[in-house]
Amino acid sequence: MLDQRRLPEEERFLELTGWEQVAEAIVSMTVRGAPAIGVAAAWGVVLASRRGADLAEAMGALRAARPTAVNLGWALDRMAAVLNRKPVDQLDALVISPGIPHLHPKPHPAAEMARAHHIEIISDIELLMRAQPQAKLVGITGTNGKSTVVTLIDHLLKSNSVATALGGNIGRSALDLDDPGKDGVIILELSSYQLETTPSLSLDAGAVINITPDHLDRHGGWDGYVAAKANLVKAVQSHGLTVLGADGAVVQLADQAASRLVIADQNMAPDTASSPDLKGPHNALNTAIAIEICQYLGVDRNALIAALPHYRGLPHRMEKVGQMGDIRFINDSKATNGDAAAEALKSFHDIYWIAGGDAKDGGIGVAANHLDQVRRAYLIGASAEAFAAQIAAACPVEISGTLDRATASALHDAQMDHCLNATILLSPAAASFDQFKNFEDRGHVFRQIVDGLTAPAVMEAAHD
Ligand code: ADP
Repeated sequence: MLDQRRLPEEERFLELTGWEQVAEAIVSMTVRGAPAIGVAAAWGVVLASRRGADLAEAMGALRAARPTAVNLGWALDRMAAVLNRKPVDQLDALVISPGIPHLHPKPHPAAEMARAHHIEIISDIELLMRAQPQAKLVGITGTNGKSTVVTLIDHLLKSNSVATALGGNIGRSALDLDDPGKDGVIILELSSYQLETTPSLSLDAGAVINITPDHLDRHGGWDGYVAAKANLVKAVQSHGLTVLGADGAVVQLADQAASRLVIADQNMAPDTASSPDLKGPHNALNTAIAIEICQYLGVDRNALIAALPHYRGLPHRMEKVGQMGDIRFINDSKATNGDAAAEALKSFHDIYWIAGGDAKDGGIGVAANHLDQVRRAYLIGASAEAFAAQIAAACPVEISGTLDRATASALHDAQMDHCLNATILLSPAAASFDQFKNFEDRGHVFRQIVDGLTAPAVMEAAHD
């Protein structure tokens, strides 16, 4: 298993000299119930299989031992070194983490090595497929909205007494999911990377929410990215249900569906006015998709609608993190591209918009078409100047540089404007890596800044 995550245990594993020892260590840890992870278990499966065991049986044994998920991943370059020293040609498979390029822009050395020895390169989702769980399988992909749709499906099913397991590209790794049995449902969030390395993917229901340019470098361009998403459509069994978001690029996948097909659009969603965490037209689309899938799985539409208001949104997706008088603070740090930010801009009025960071191809993208509710933009990070050039003709802009300066300026301006229902919105339309560890870190820092600004002492001072 090739994983990009690094933990102290890595060192201990690297001291082991043979594959057998590594396999035994993993298996014994798993059996003892010590924290072993899907990642380690996956490698254990590959290794056990090398020792003559059938892959599915080895997988079953490890699942029976119920490994709990704690990451024992190996660092990338170390792993490549290990593979260099070992008889690579004797491996059954290289189980690759989604973060590691196996083709584009340049294959990781371990992937190159595996390919040179005709060793298959697969994802942990593929191992889950080969373990043949009994539960029904739902797979969701798309450029934006995956996590919202899978968590909404999970909520709607659980609220209607259907046993579920949720994982894949979110939360628990695929190999750590307990099979909820034939009456239950496994819900998988699938990234485009995982869709390239899961040849046995087989779904009862699947959805592609939308496709807009993102991560193109990892797929050799737009066609490669669309082809990865198309793998999900092809994986839905003929008795199943395929749902496609009504967006041009997605609809072109329709002729690849072998199952019943529904093209979902936001108008098909029930009224979500009483569902506080499903605001905005994009969430209407997400809701329409989730409801189609849950109905296909046998739950009554009215029962699903009744559960909608109780859905609690995920952190960093249009999450309210503070209120000061008429001004609310919204953390949409997960909006790492222009398409996602555009949805947030459509969802609020009188917006003081904080954007910028590590820009994607196309920069601020379609977000630049939704500036009519933006009173002023506060630009931060590496893309600040470039974003300013893209939008300065359409709305006032401040190059703030950092998130704390941007938030303080936005608050100052919102207070001066005295408008009712102003929104200070962090929806960056860019990745976070230039200034933060990841989008979660960016969201946490924003929350801390907001907490600091809205603390009673500061509020009193602001009213002086
Ligand atoms: P993903 O898991 O695909 O990254 P999330 O549900 O975490 O998707 O949402 C990521 C960002 O995209 C958030 O800013 C969210 O508000 C926005 N978003 C959610 N659903 C959609 C959609 N259907 N279309 C466009 N943007 C969306």
